[in-house]
Amino acid sequence: MHCGAPGVRMMGKQGLSPDMKRKLLVTSALPYANGSIHLGHLVEYIQTDIWVRFQKMQGHECHYVCADDTHGTPIMLRAEKEGIPPEELIARVWLEHFDDFSAFHVNFDHYGSTNSEETRQFACSIYGKLKAANLIESKTIEQYYDPVKEMFLPDRFIKGECPKCGAKDQYGDNCEVCGAAYTPSELRNPYSAVSGAKPELRSSEHYFFRLSDARCQQFLKEWTTKGTLQPEASNKMQEWLKGELSDWDISRDAPYFGFEIPDAPGKYFYVWLDAPVGYMGSFMKLCGERGIDFDEFWKKGSTAELYHFIGKDILYFHALFWPAMLEHAGFRTPTKLFAHGFLTVNGEKMSKSRGTFITARSYVDHVRNTEYLRYYYASKLNGTMEDIDLNLEDFVAKVNSDLIGKYVNIASRCAGFITKRFDGMLCAEIPSTIEQIIEDGRLRLPRLKYDLQNPRRTGLLEEFATWAQTISEFYEDRKYSAAISNIMRLADRANVYVNDWAPWEMAKDPAKEKDLHWVCSYSLNLFRMLTIYLKPVLPKLAGEAERFLNIPPLVWADAKTLLGAHRINEYTHLMARLDPKNVEAMVEANRESLKPVEHSPARHAESQVHHQPIFDTISIEDFSKIDLRIAKIANAEHVEGAEKLLKLTLDIGTGTRTVFAGIKSAYAPEELVGRHTVMVANLAPRKMKFGVSEGMVLAAGDGKDLFILSPDEGAAAGMKVK
Ligand SMILES: [Zn+2]
Repeated sequence: MHCGAPGVRMMGKQGLSPDMKRKLLVTSALPYANGSIHLGHLVEYIQTDIWVRFQKMQGHECHYVCADDTHGTPIMLRAEKEGIPPEELIARVWLEHFDDFSAFHVNFDHYGSTNSEETRQFACSIYGKLKAANLIESKTIEQYYDPVKEMFLPDRFIKGECPKCGAKDQYGDNCEVCGAAYTPSELRNPYSAVSGAKPELRSSEHYFFRLSDARCQQFLKEWTTKGTLQPEASNKMQEWLKGELSDWDISRDAPYFGFEIPDAPGKYFYVWLDAPVGYMGSFMKLCGERGIDFDEFWKKGSTAELYHFIGKDILYFHALFWPAMLEHAGFRTPTKLFAHGFLTVNGEKMSKSRGTFITARSYVDHVRNTEYLRYYYASKLNGTMEDIDLNLEDFVAKVNSDLIGKYVNIASRCAGFITKRFDGMLCAEIPSTIEQIIEDGRLRLPRLKYDLQNPRRTGLLEEFATWAQTISEFYEDRKYSAAISNIMRLADRANVYVNDWAPWEMAKDPAKEKDLHWVCSYSLNLFRMLTIYLKPVLPKLAGEAERFLNIPPLVWADAKTLLGAHRINEYTHLMARLDPKNVEAMVEANRESLKPVEHSPARHAESQVHHQPIFDTISIEDFSKIDLRIAKIANAEHVEGAEKLLKLTLDIGTGTRTVFAGIKSAYAPEELVGRHTVMVANLAPRKMKFGVSEGMVLAAGDGKDLFILSPDEGAAAGMKVK
């Protein structure tokens, strides 16, 4: 279940005094076991993993735990729909999630599930302590009930007309058209998104965590302003804390997939109560496996550090409910929360229709090398709550220019000479520590300028080594983009050195044999130093570089040492260029898959047509740019390997067009041949995985409920539609 962590082995190599060794427990938010991991999720897991790897390289005792978040109505309903027990669904999704994280080198020390005995026990004991502290209260509330399905309906499973603007098919908590927020009882003509039935208001007893209690308010006012949050997060919390906090409803009625409340049969803990408790449950499992003292990390007054990496959307749960629960149940509270923004792709929200709602699995299938994405995210992350953008063109350019053109290039241009001319041995003139090289008068330079007469007078390695401190501070502060840009600046300088001395030229002159040996050995030492700095971001590539350099796993303190008389292994290609075609294929693959929206649970359950807001008004001139024509479907055929597409040959009078249409779920090719339909005739041709598509046929709906348009009888191929 867990992957090996190198932390323990590295300890003691630091040269740090023992009291500087920190104890850290780090978490990422728990992904919900109701959908696939996508590139948006990965911003968080990659960001956390880099930080954890960095801490381990420092020699600290750092544990990274996470778990699948498995409870709640959406999971229960989805399992029911699939005709399997929820335990079977969450076991399957756990494996998918774990595989995806592993593929991106996200190296949890333990990856668990909230549906565990450990999490149940902590949830019950926290509840018991809150109750003993008089912070739990029961109240009877009115809530919508689905009389057909015989269950109370969560807000997201009630739909109806917006009370403000009248838009149809809006969720029970807010309107996607006008943005209004309201309670489900305010919806007009409500219906159950599960069964379609008209819901009834029924009363039920619920349990509340009394956040309105003066003790909670007072505690949270202090806790949120003492440096535990980023300034922008703290400001947001102060706004929420201005008024009185409402009590938090922590129970749900059966049927519900979750933990039954100990003294309340038929009542279950709301999924958001036991989700963060999953951090404790998962860590408890790890403690059992590795003999770690749980209390040392969680007891009140613990000096161990506890960090939660979260998305800005779940700040409320982590900055209010969670610390208040811990505080009043006698546990320590988090040291800090690290909230991050969302991912945009090409400057826009991730979108299924644009193919930019990219799953982790499809990235692996098409792009394969996951360190490209780790590197790109690192080059964008800055420790704030701002969104980051994955610009796909820039992604290809940056990976190829930085990783291949700058970093790998240093090794690939120097290694061959060491192997062929010097029997794989690096130059013995290079001392084993930076201090020695500084003491060596021959090598010292007053200015950071190369001596073009003497390759030994550069000062470069010393300069590289002095950056260890600053770069480590950037990592510590999660300013990865600053770390990366400085590392790449150093890589540029290393490449200038290689270019200036041009080993491939020196190799032609037997008199320059010693200089050649020095230059290549020195450059490989520069490469090794860069590898240390990049290792938290590129663990696999660093591992391959270590094998090539024939050295044990690098830790941060290795920036003080050098490789002198040392035998390296033969260089083999460390990293291939990123082919933009693979990125295009990935986008196409995601454009094709018109799966239901995974993160909008109600969509799974509903059979109604999903209403979309009307677009912004356009002028008649805008509309007239679209050349719509009647087309006769001259041929229709399956496309080998395509799940959703049919290949259509469309006759538009003046000739034929080939169009790949995502209509296979609703039509067999033979149903289509001979029919007339409407096509966009002036759409720019689009290169798809299976060929070029020269237009688009018009259709409504999706999946099985998809309908292509037909003109009335008499319309002929090529006629303009206006
Ligand atoms: Zn509205």
